[in-house]
Amino acid sequence: MPRPLRRLSNKNLLLRRHLDETMANLEGNHPIKPMPFAYEKVSSVMDEATYKWHHDTHYAGYVNKRNEIEAMLKTADLSKANANYSVYRELKLEETWNADGAVLHELYWDSMGGDGKLGDDELAKRIAEDFGSFDAWKADFMACAKVSRGWTALVLDMSTDVKTRNVLLDFHNIGGFVGAMPLIVVDVYEHAYYHKFGPDRASYLQAFVDNIDWAKAKNRYKALTNMG
Ligand code: FE
Repeated sequence: MPRPLRRLSNKNLLLRRHLDETMANLEGNHPIKPMPFAYEKVSSVMDEATYKWHHDTHYAGYVNKRNEIEAMLKTADLSKANANYSVYRELKLEETWNADGAVLHELYWDSMGGDGKLGDDELAKRIAEDFGSFDAWKADFMACAKVSRGWTALVLDMSTDVKTRNVLLDFHNIGGFVGAMPLIVVDVYEHAYYHKFGPDRASYLQAFVDNIDWAKAKNRYKALTNMG
């Protein structure tokens, strides 16, 4: 069997060289950001193991793959671009899967660690106007998160008359409103809550809304509405 082994060996060398070149070209611009809070701040929403797994495995995996894909895109063969199948198409698909996966997790962390109280200011008025009341928003947000297969977000839809909406994204990169900016994001993939709540998603969602940090959402709202 010397020939197949030698071929395999050459193939491995080529693969190794390709990986080395890829790593050398790695843009690596997207850092794995640390959790913005200590575990104690979110202990009502997740257990300590999930706090670590969710950040170190799930989130870090998206950031690493995003960086890897960006590097591979730099050398992708554009002449072979094809909608049925091409390396370029697959890279572009997985680019948004991983980029959105990373950013949504960062927004999810940013949505937690508070006392869940919305208070009374511009964003509170906006939500009351769009949903009728804060309680009505909460009921709609939780219902939206119950029927989602991946994410639910409160977004500011800049494509209309600056309206807040609750949206669901079954996948990181499918289901959002074009022109809408996320204000509050919740992860409803099972890994986010099963270890603490099991299949009781409703209790997880109740704990989440009671733990929202509205200060960060308000900063984003202010920045977005003062853009013009
Ligand atoms: Fe997640």
